Amino acid sequence: MNTETSLHGMDHDILLETIVAITEQRDQHSLELSLFASLREMLQPMCGFFLDLSADGSTRTLMPSRNEDIVLPESVIEVAREMSEYDFRQAETPDLIYMLAVIDTGKNGSRRILLVGMPSWNETSERLLVGMVRVYQNFMKLMSDSEKDTLTGLQNRRKLESFLASRLTARLHERREGDKPAEKPAAERNAQTRGEYLAVLDLDKFKRINDTYGHLIGDEVLLTFANILRASLRDNDRSFRYGGEEFIVVLNEVSPEQAGAVLERLRGNVERHSFPQVGQVTVSIGYTLIDRQDLPTRIIEEADKALYYAKEHGRNQVRDYAALRDEGVVDDSQHDGSIELF
Ligand code: GH3
Ligand code: MG
Ligand code: MG
Repeated sequence: MNTETSLHGMDHDILLETIVAITEQRDQHSLELSLFASLREMLQPMCGFFLDLSADGSTRTLMPSRNEDIVLPESVIEVAREMSEYDFRQAETPDLIYMLAVIDTGKNGSRRILLVGMPSWNETSERLLVGMVRVYQNFMKLMSDSEKDTLTGLQNRRKLESFLASRLTARLHERREGDKPAEKPAAERNAQTRGEYLAVLDLDKFKRINDTYGHLIGDEVLLTFANILRASLRDNDRSFRYGGEEFIVVLNEVSPEQAGAVLERLRGNVERHSFPQVGQVTVSIGYTLIDRQDLPTRIIEEADKALYYAKEHGRNQVRDYAALRDEGVVDDSQHDGSIELF
């Protein structure tokens, strides 16, 4: 943008272009960067930050100031701490006036806050910031709605696919950068690695629940199951509804023992729950380490083999793909992508 253009004179084309640039993005990080770049171009502020306030009160500045000398003052962070969802505030320091906007809220009260520092603000620049943040928020909501399953509110299969693709890409980069130890034999690796585990969960004999009590009660069971899932996992684990009565869980940074224990606890929580009208419902679970697989479908395929084993051996149990493979009771050949669950 031409630096001589005043905000008032800023034509609609630029505003429109900016909104197009924002809404072209499809993931939160790119969207944030795009919002930030737009504000920088339109307002030419002295500095800007993203600040993460976690539930325990710790802070993390995500976007360094353009003007590297400017450090976010503690007094401004204090104002940020008082902010709640969709809030805007101003905080003055001797040199700058900051506008603060809550752009995202996480579970358990964590917040991400955008801070833009200018020598002064006028009505136009304030309205511009508020407007851009609103566009960003509305668009984020649209995106996140399209990634959710409507019955359970869990993330849907589409989101799972993009999530796994991004995890595998990240792993590829890590390996290329060479900051990972040289490849170890698979068995040894799986016995030691802390990492992300993917589990496929399939409700046992679910067809019978539908047949006996009807589809509506069946849906109710799925909803209750999703709630047990949420309650049994930590905040940084993720759960998805993969298909009808099939769910996928990704456990973040756990040892193989922890992965087994978390899933076993989850299985037990389901088994002990008394579902309205239906009574006891059980779930079978197969899981695998997200590691060197080259395609998202391969990860799911491995977990699915372990699940199949669980189904064949009495249901209502948790099975680890690596253990079964090492025992030689599941085949470790790979198929060509398409997979079918129960
Ligand atoms: P298994 O223990 O082998 O998994 O037995 P199952 O009966 O659960 O196996 P199967 O996968 O054959 O049956 C799943 C059933 O789930 C079939 C379908 O009618 C039902 N189902 C799928 N999606 C939904 C849904 O959204 N709502 C309800 N109520 N039922 C669903
Ligand atoms: Mg089933
Ligand atoms: Mg099934």
